[in-house]
Amino acid sequence: MDEQLDFAPCGYVSLNDESTILDINKTLLGLLDYKLQELQGQHINLILTHASQTFYQLYFFPMIRLQEKVDAMYIALKTKSGQEIPILLNASRNKRGGKFFNDCACFPMKERYEYEQALLAAKKETDQRNQMKKKQIEELGMLRNELECKQNELLELNEKLRTLAETDGLTGLKNRRCLQESLTLNLNSQAGQLQPISLLLMDIDYFKEINDTYGHMTGDRVLQEMGQLLEEESRKEDIAARYGGEEFALILPNTDKSDALKIAERIRLHVEKANWGKSAITISIGAATLQPGDTESSLQSKADNALYASKNGGRNQVTHASDLT
Ligand code: GH3
Ligand code: MG
Ligand code: MG
Repeated sequence: MDEQLDFAPCGYVSLNDESTILDINKTLLGLLDYKLQELQGQHINLILTHASQTFYQLYFFPMIRLQEKVDAMYIALKTKSGQEIPILLNASRNKRGGKFFNDCACFPMKERYEYEQALLAAKKETDQRNQMKKKQIEELGMLRNELECKQNELLELNEKLRTLAETDGLTGLKNRRCLQESLTLNLNSQAGQLQPISLLLMDIDYFKEINDTYGHMTGDRVLQEMGQLLEEESRKEDIAARYGGEEFALILPNTDKSDALKIAERIRLHVEKANWGKSAITISIGAATLQPGDTESSLQSKADNALYASKNGGRNQVTHASDLT
């Protein structure tokens, strides 16, 4: 081998068709840490890693026989001490003196290989981080959904609780507390200009007798049916409530004395004519219409006085507070 090739800045090895090393330059011997006589006549496998041996058999050898050259093939060589050296391999098949030689030039790629490995590791790490981030975002989304569900449940529960807190358990009408709040709200919403607003207080006549005669259960049923009747009689803006035991109330917004009396009379008649089963039932009604200076309590008190007058007047009748002397 001439000196220029022996010390060329790349490795050189020549193989015959049995893959026996025929010649190898000093550059490559130095790289692999072998002496010439240790490699000459040996099979190429001696300086190939395990993976490269297979690669050599499956790709390199068929290709150089078929195409007579191999360009830029990545392969790993193995030094005497077993250290791996990645190289870029160019080879050509040449005929000299009637024999074929497979001449290979090897360019060590250690730095590039390491750089590639580092790049790969960095990419893997980035991928893993992205994956983790994606998972965390998904988990966050799930948690947010869960939170929304819980918030909605809470809202529903609050709504139920609110309804429960303002409803009378037996009749399903509003309870007294709710009625009083509604009354306050109605009066406050007038904001200076007085809208006619009326209140009816209704009390079942001789209700104790119904309980005593037919039992408490029948009494309860009558209260429930009275609740239904009031519901039927009230307009959308009215508020019907159970005021106490067998007492009911109806807030009538935008209703003056005359209309309040008409409504009260209609209810009284409805009760009187309704089919209550075993016994007839009547109610006494006290009506009051808001006057300047009235408060919710004065309005209630006036309606209560009117109710008292209806009772005293013989029951089953309507009295308006403004007609009391
Ligand atoms: P008046 O015509 O003077 O109103 O006579 P009344 O018998 O209706 O009045 P009183 O105040 O003497 O009796 C009311 C009765 O209502 C007594 C009470 O036991 C009954 N009551 C109150 N709440 C309920 C209830 O929830 N269910 C039943 N079944 N009875 C009730
Ligand atoms: Mg009563
Ligand atoms: Mg009564």
